[in-house]
Amino acid sequence: MTQVQHSGSEHRVHVAIIGAGIGGLATAVALSKAGLHVEVFEQVRRFKRVGAGLQLAPNATAALHGLGLLTAVRATASRPTAWRSYDAHTGTVTREESLGDDIARRYGTPYLHIHRGDLHDVLADAARAVCTVHRGRRLTGLTMAGEQVHLSFEDGGRAHADAVIGADGIHSTVRGVIFGGTRPRFSGMVAYRGLIPRERIDRLGVGPEAAKWWGEDRHLVHYWVSGGAELNYVAPIPATEWTEESWTAAGSIADLVAALDDFVPQVGWLVAQTGALMRSALYDRDPLLRWTADRVTLLGDAAHPMLPFMAQGSAMALEDAAVLSRCLQGVAADELPAALTRYERARIARTGAIQAGSRANTFLRSARAGTKSLTVQEVYAYDPWRVPLSGATS
Ligand SMILES: Cc1cc2nc3c(=O)[nH]c(=O)nc-3n(C[C@H](O)[C@H](O)[C@H](O)COP(=O)(O)OP(=O)(O)OC[C@H]3O[C@@H](n4cnc5c(N)ncnc54)[C@H](O)[C@@H]3O)c2cc1C
Repeated sequence: MTQVQHSGSEHRVHVAIIGAGIGGLATAVALSKAGLHVEVFEQVRRFKRVGAGLQLAPNATAALHGLGLLTAVRATASRPTAWRSYDAHTGTVTREESLGDDIARRYGTPYLHIHRGDLHDVLADAARAVCTVHRGRRLTGLTMAGEQVHLSFEDGGRAHADAVIGADGIHSTVRGVIFGGTRPRFSGMVAYRGLIPRERIDRLGVGPEAAKWWGEDRHLVHYWVSGGAELNYVAPIPATEWTEESWTAAGSIADLVAALDDFVPQVGWLVAQTGALMRSALYDRDPLLRWTADRVTLLGDAAHPMLPFMAQGSAMALEDAAVLSRCLQGVAADELPAALTRYERARIARTGAIQAGSRANTFLRSARAGTKSLTVQEVYAYDPWRVPLSGATS
């Protein structure tokens, strides 16, 4: 029987989101704005400024714009003027894309770079204003019983909801319970992530462009974050022996300089100025054929973890949030399984193509198009608030 929404004492659809990362918080804001009753359950007790930079292409900033958060995000973001690809051995430019005003004119919203901590702060403030965000609540179990999903937590607590969104990252507990626990796939690469205070490299004259220095089996990408106060870089390097995945493990500057010793000298000079250096092994997973089961679905890295080589991980989570909220707006509790399947159908082909493109690591390398399956235009022009919900079953 269909229940009427948002009126007086009648049942308001209650959704539990597991994980208060980028995707979970964006989803909390989007679903609350769509009129649902939302609770978020996050395992960490305190949010800390962990990690480094994220790239927000126009498809990601379109998602944030629709949440009403683009102005707040811009306050701490940097806006690159261009994207430049270099042959790392010769310093020759192999591709240049104008970003700045040009890309904002073409797609409607800007290309931005931001520290993950700054984006997380904006999303967490916005989510706390519209729903409850529980911290220190690590999900350990989940069962479906009739029209309810029951949740259990490490602290012994329990909760239930009409539907559950697993936004709990690449090692998703929700995914493990619903689809079976498998290990992510080690890529054979370790990513060094560094932050360099601007004053240390003023004399090197690093411009406002984002740059990617391409070697044969390794590369280094750099761009400004923290409102231009820090240069962020990511350098994936082949590795077989070190497989720890971590957002806090320290890296050695000397090891990284040695790993890039056949790159043009200015890359090594930059790295030598690093303030904080982290390192983490890179993992992804093969695309899932389904990620919804009855009243439970997945979102962001829980559904489609990808290598960072197209810089679309956060963007896909933000797009998911927008599309999911469109699919759930106005639905009754007994319509949730169909609405969640509709969301999955609307998203699965695109996110699978971006997972594959990220593995291929050819996006923006040279003057030819983006990846085998997606052009730059197709990646950036996607507005999750307007895109037809095609592929959807209703
Ligand atoms: C601390 C941290 C730092 C990061 N730094 C960077 C970075 O510098 N650059 C970059 O490109 N990407 C970074 N990432 C990854 C990036 O945020 C994601 O790849 C992308 O934004 C997709 O977001 P997501 O919400 O799907 O996953 P995530 O942002 O990874 O969020 C998942 C959330 O779920 C929570 N969680 C996990 N298991 C449970 C559970 N059982 N119960 C409750 N909560 C749970 C986690 O604590 C986390 O808050 C970082 C992720 C984290 C968690």
